[in-house]
Amino acid sequence: MKLILLGAPGAGKGTVAKLLTEVDGSVQISTGDILRGAVRAGTELGKKAEAFMKAGDLVPDELIMGIMEERLQESDCANGFLLDGFPRTIPQSEALKALLARIGIELDMAVNLDVPRDVILDRLTTRRTCSNPECQAIYNVKSNPPKQEGICDKCGSPVIQRDDETEEAISKRLETYNEKTAPLAAYYEKEGLLVNVNATSSDIVVSTIKEKLGL
Ligand code: AMP
Repeated sequence: MKLILLGAPGAGKGTVAKLLTEVDGSVQISTGDILRGAVRAGTELGKKAEAFMKAGDLVPDELIMGIMEERLQESDCANGFLLDGFPRTIPQSEALKALLARIGIELDMAVNLDVPRDVILDRLTTRRTCSNPECQAIYNVKSNPPKQEGICDKCGSPVIQRDDETEEAISKRLETYNEKTAPLAAYYEKEGLLVNVNATSSDIVVSTIKEKLGL
C-alpha cells in the first residue's frame, strides 16, 4: 500500500503505521524519526533541524524534500510505504506530487486520522517512547504503561518523554499543525485521495484502511 497518514501530533500516525507494516510489508517512513536519528548522530541535517524541532516548529521544506527524494527511491519502498508525518505543509504536498509523478508512483489514499483535541492533549502529555533508536516502542503512562516502570517491554532500554513533549512544545506543535498541516485535508480532498477516519482506536483505523484497500 502507498499511503499518506495525516493527523495532528498524537493522533496515532506512528502506531497505525507500525500496525500497517505488519499487513503487507510496506515500510513506515517517519520524517520525525529520520530527523531525530540525524540529531542523535550529529549530522549536518541534524544540526540544522535540532532547534526547530525542540521549539515545536517545522523544519524547512527544502531539508525535508531532500530527505524524501532519497528515501522514496530506496528499494524497500517498492513494496509500498506509509508516510508518517510527511507531508506537513502545502508546498511539501505539491513537491511530493511532482516527485511521485517523476518516479512513476501513484498513491492509494491520504488517510486523515481525526481525534478530538482533548484526547490529543492527554495522549501527548502521557506518551512515553523507548529511547533505543532501533526500537522506539510507544507507551502511555495511563493506558499502556510498560510492565516494569520506565523500562521497555520489548528491548529493556529506558522509556523516556520526548524533548518536544513538554507542555510548551506541545502547544506550539498543535498551533503549527492547525496553521500549516490541517489545510492538507482539503488539498487531498481536491486530489480525490482523502479518507477521513475517526481515530480514537488504532485497531479500527487499521481495519477501515484494510477494507478500503480490499485487503
Ligand atoms: P513528529 O515525530 O512527526 O511529530 O516530528 C517531530 C518534529 O520533527 C516536528 O515537530 C518537526 O519539528 C519535525 N518534522 C517532522 N516531519 C516534518 C515535516 N514533514 N516537515 C517539517 N518538519 C518536520
